[in-house]
Amino acid sequence: RMMKSKMSCPIDIDRLNAPLLEIYESLIPAEEEKAKQKQLLTLLEKIVSKEWPNAKLFLYGSCANSFGVSKSDIDVCLAIEDEGIDKSEVLLKLAELLQSDNLQNVQALTRARVPIVKLMDPVTGISCDICINNLLAVTNTKLLHDYSKIDVRLHQLALIVKHWAKSRGVNETYQGTLSSYAYVLMCINFLQQRTPAILPCLQGLEATYKVTVDDIECAYFDQVDILVGFGAPNKEGIAQLVWAFFNYWAYCHDYANSVISVRTGRILSKHNKDLTRRVGNGRHLICIEDPFDTSHNLGRVVDGNSIRVLREEFERAAHIMQFDPNPCISLFEPY
Ligand code: ATP
Ligand code: MG
Repeated sequence: RMMKSKMSCPIDIDRLNAPLLEIYESLIPAEEEKAKQKQLLTLLEKIVSKEWPNAKLFLYGSCANSFGVSKSDIDVCLAIEDEGIDKSEVLLKLAELLQSDNLQNVQALTRARVPIVKLMDPVTGISCDICINNLLAVTNTKLLHDYSKIDVRLHQLALIVKHWAKSRGVNETYQGTLSSYAYVLMCINFLQQRTPAILPCLQGLEATYKVTVDDIECAYFDQVDILVGFGAPNKEGIAQLVWAFFNYWAYCHDYANSVISVRTGRILSKHNKDLTRRVGNGRHLICIEDPFDTSHNLGRVVDGNSIRVLREEFERAAHIMQFDPNPCISLFEPY
């Protein structure tokens, strides 16, 4: 691994800019898909308001953080007054209402880590997960969306990395690999680390947006319009960034000691972080700090087996970006 870390970027890497951008463009959802999502949200609002007139629905996840690809499911959060509600009861009631409104495949998963109701809308063909009062997810969705407005290379890199992860089967939290959310955080932190930096650290700037969610204070600079152009001094193209991203995760990241931290815009040392407070997988084989819930490691789903799978995939991708004559095909080959 030490030898490989000395690899330098192929001098003709920019030949891959155009084909990678073509793949990127093909991943962006069409406008009509956005309209269908709106249509479904409106229907859900109508159903919900009859039973809970004061409740609100928020979109979160990739349908609202800008990192959605075409044919994604949508994630919806039902925000309802906290006083004495029983989440399971609300979910079961909600499932009943949805079913009687002809939504399909309605399922209440009340015992899941994040309890949800799943459904499919036969009119738009869109599937949807509804959770209750998960406002931290709504807030981190806004943070990701705000980052995406600063430099288009984040959007490009994150969509390509997500597409790679889905193609290679390493975007499956139930199998111990990483969530889309974790991959986007890895991309943000990676761009914060470039020299010159392509992204700033929004939580390190004066806060213009502050909310307290589940006793966690979420504060950051959200007037991102004035940060457009922040990354302009850095001239790296998407091909070089994709190469460097995989090179970093294949050969340079110190898995034993480092924590990826979008909150600080840096890579922290595990010794300075209390990642052991959370029970569960105590090993922390890859550490990605949640930007707001800082005791939460997005990599805690990773176990001894899946870390090997992940690292092999990073190495495969890095190798392809280095040597393959046709990286844009090999990179995304189904596993
Ligand atoms: P995809 O296009 O794959 O559906 P996504 O951005 O919707 O991508 P998900 O993994 O479905 O990603 O997560 C949806 C949202 O839930 C995330 O954007 C994030 O706000 C929140 N979330 C997901 N996993 C976690 C987690 N482990 N901790 C905190 N929030 C999370
Ligand atoms: Mg999603």
